[in-house]
Amino acid sequence: MRIETLVVGEFQVNCYIIVGDDNHCLILDPGKDADAIQDSLSANGLTVSAYLLTHAHMDHISALADLLDNHPAPVACHHADWAWAFSSENTMPPFYPSPRQPEFVEHRALSEGQAWRDAGLMYQIIETPGHSIGSVCFHFPENNVLFSGDTLFAGSVGRTDLPGGDSRQLGASLEKLAVLPDETAIYCGHGPETTLSQEKKTNFFMQRLPAGLSSL
Ligand SMILES: [Zn+2]
Ligand SMILES: [Zn+2]
Repeated sequence: MRIETLVVGEFQVNCYIIVGDDNHCLILDPGKDADAIQDSLSANGLTVSAYLLTHAHMDHISALADLLDNHPAPVACHHADWAWAFSSENTMPPFYPSPRQPEFVEHRALSEGQAWRDAGLMYQIIETPGHSIGSVCFHFPENNVLFSGDTLFAGSVGRTDLPGGDSRQLGASLEKLAVLPDETAIYCGHGPETTLSQEKKTNFFMQRLPAGLSSL
């Protein structure tokens, strides 16, 4: 596994290009700047096996339709977020109009405990609602890597005051992440990468686990 990080859009989302076997890759959270993402694909001779969406906020998916035009592949997203991904409410003026609906898309509805394999890489789905109702984390156990979206950041967690957000659910989701191996590398939706052990030691929200979650 090789991971390339592109910081895209006004909200500085980490779009990850996850390269596996035979120059095939996964694109996680194509938030904006489709041209920059496509330039990277071309420069490295990559073929897209699938698109992975940690959640459907516009800053994480606004390049999806443009990429699909040239690099068709299945799109993996929890159905609870897919339901509103391209709606007029999913907007943050003036930076993000609502994302363009792809003309054709093969949607993979994600749910808890599923295991998928693309580009020779196996990953499991952990449902982590709280930041949005259909947020998921992608865990690659053979590589000790987790992509946490906006659920967990280095030193912080995602906001829960947007539609569908729920701080108690976020607390329960963090509890699920806390049982992964300590050495798990965490690639977040925004900001630097971290490790689970580092977050357990220093992240205020992880230190509250398992007690006190209900008051989060
Ligand atoms: Zn978000
Ligand atoms: Zn975000």
